[in-house]
Amino acid sequence: MTTDIHTLVIGGGQAGIAASEHLGRRAIPHIVLERARIAERWRTERWDSLVANGPAWHDRFPNMEFDGIDPSAFAPKDRIVRYFEEYAAKIAAPIRCGVTVTQASKTAEGFRVETSDGPFTCRNLIAATGPFQRPLIPEIVPDTLGITQMHSTGYRNPAQLPEGAVMVVGAGSSGSQIADELLRAGRRVFLSVGPHNRPPIRYRSKDFVWWLGVLGEWDARTSKPGQEHVTIAVSGAHGGRTVDFRDFAHRGMTLLGRAGAVTGSTMQIAPDLAANIAGGDANYLATLDKADAYAAAHTLDLPEEPSARTFPATPDCVTNPVLSLDLKAAGITSIIWATGFAPDFGWLKAGTFDAKGAPVHDKGISATEGLYFLGLPWLTRRASPFIWGVWHDADHIAGTIAARMPVPA
Ligand SMILES: Cc1cc2nc3c(=O)[nH]c(=O)nc-3n(C[C@H](O)[C@H](O)[C@H](O)COP(=O)(O)OP(=O)(O)OC[C@H]3O[C@@H](n4cnc5c(N)ncnc54)[C@H](O)[C@@H]3O)c2cc1C
Repeated sequence: MTTDIHTLVIGGGQAGIAASEHLGRRAIPHIVLERARIAERWRTERWDSLVANGPAWHDRFPNMEFDGIDPSAFAPKDRIVRYFEEYAAKIAAPIRCGVTVTQASKTAEGFRVETSDGPFTCRNLIAATGPFQRPLIPEIVPDTLGITQMHSTGYRNPAQLPEGAVMVVGAGSSGSQIADELLRAGRRVFLSVGPHNRPPIRYRSKDFVWWLGVLGEWDARTSKPGQEHVTIAVSGAHGGRTVDFRDFAHRGMTLLGRAGAVTGSTMQIAPDLAANIAGGDANYLATLDKADAYAAAHTLDLPEEPSARTFPATPDCVTNPVLSLDLKAAGITSIIWATGFAPDFGWLKAGTFDAKGAPVHDKGISATEGLYFLGLPWLTRRASPFIWGVWHDADHIAGTIAARMPVPA
């Protein structure tokens, strides 16, 4: 039995739910297919203690607040899962969980979609399978060294790791939060810090997400030149704190430059730690400058915060960086790679993809008729892969589908 539906949404995370809301509002018949459960990645691909990076007033859909959470607090990941379950129920989203899409191909009328629950046909297909699909682990450290290695998607908590020191590679939000957690748990931690931005979590009484909004940065269409591979280090953990890697070092963490090749058990470390810390500082200070200029231009009565411009002393591991590290001699028994993700659209036999496997589209609209994407980084702007940003992109995609529907005779 083939199920025919006007629009099929693949993926039941926040993007799929947002798509369902906006399709439903336009009375567009649709089904959402989710291979596991609603918001599955928040359940099983993230660590136990994770909380949202943005406060609850911001990291949500516009039509529903987090019940029982202070809007200025950071929702724990289990609460985020419940939020999306409640949201899907509120809008009566037609989600079928436990259905894996194995292949989708173009037909004259639309698409034929093979799934673990039989074939579907549809006129429109919205791929909402996530901004972060296939975990990337650089092949640097040979298995023969006997060091436990995992991607940040596999990390749960400190007790999961064998005794001994831990190296965390990557100092974006995931790497910096995991390294901090391990340090607090009493582990010896080495953190490899690449180029990063680190906005203040709060400045002059306003959250950084608020500043990014008023400064127009959520709406940036593309990353700034030279910033394409610069990660962002923010954390809602412990009530939300600005990430400053010098603090980590003063609490006992060893900061390293970018991780390089391993010979025997010795890893080469790039001599870029000080430059990466300086780059993070420059970004941080630029954000404060822009915020101050905005406050002055709009005569906002916000408390001054000169202390935000004072940094901790530069730690010895930055001044005298480690340039090669014998992993075994340092007692490192685990490495956590917080090194990002690659796209994985192997199931989609339609549309065009670039050399890295990312789909070619214009604001989520493919040149292939009826094919749409949602939730991808920079889909329409910086906010696109985040909770509130994807909701607005879903409106745009559903609106496009509605506008292209044949007018009834
Ligand atoms: C560690 C971490 C912390 C984050 N914290 C925040 C935050 O605080 N605030 C914020 O706004 N954003 C945050 N994000 C970014 C973003 O909100 C999340 O990545 C979010 O999960 C993206 O939602 P999505 O629906 O686009 O994709 P996903 O959550 O990845 O959902 C896609 C769904 O598609 C399903 N699927 C995939 N392939 C198939 C298939 N072939 N057939 C059927 N189903 C399939 C998957 O099971 C999955 O449930 C964070 C991301 C990470 C990695």
